[in-house]
Amino acid sequence: MERIDQPVDQAQARAWLATALAEARAGLAEGGIPIGAALYGADGTLLGRGHNRRVQDADPSMHAETAAFRAAGRQRTYRGTTMVTTLSPCWYCSGLVRQFGISRVVIGEAETFHGGHDWLGEHGVEIVLLDDPECTSLMRDFIKNDPALWNEDIGD
Ligand SMILES: [Zn+2]
Repeated sequence: MERIDQPVDQAQARAWLATALAEARAGLAEGGIPIGAALYGADGTLLGRGHNRRVQDADPSMHAETAAFRAAGRQRTYRGTTMVTTLSPCWYCSGLVRQFGISRVVIGEAETFHGGHDWLGEHGVEIVLLDDPECTSLMRDFIKNDPALWNEDIGD
């Protein structure tokens, strides 16, 4: 069954988002920035998952999407894969999506931060924006409680 580049349905996207959201909550519990991500294969297999580790690893380059991507290890191709993230991807992670030819990005929310997903959409990446209230409230609370850490992460 060839599923590559078929549009994903909302129920599937929401099920995948639950993995990213669990990662975001794990990051928050560690005292980190609550952004989570997961990379799914063309056949729906979970390839890798992770969360932002700026605080935990003192590594500003370890964003949620980067962590999930690295956890997936080497893949022969990224065609048909889906990057699922709780928050609109920053320019750095949007660049990663384009560099490796990831086909689709599922986004929990883009209200608290609007990254590069419009640009990705203009370049043929399928964008599924779920406007998930849990993702939004998680980020809103975090930004309210620790604005300095958030501003550090987004480079403000
Ligand atoms: Zn990023």
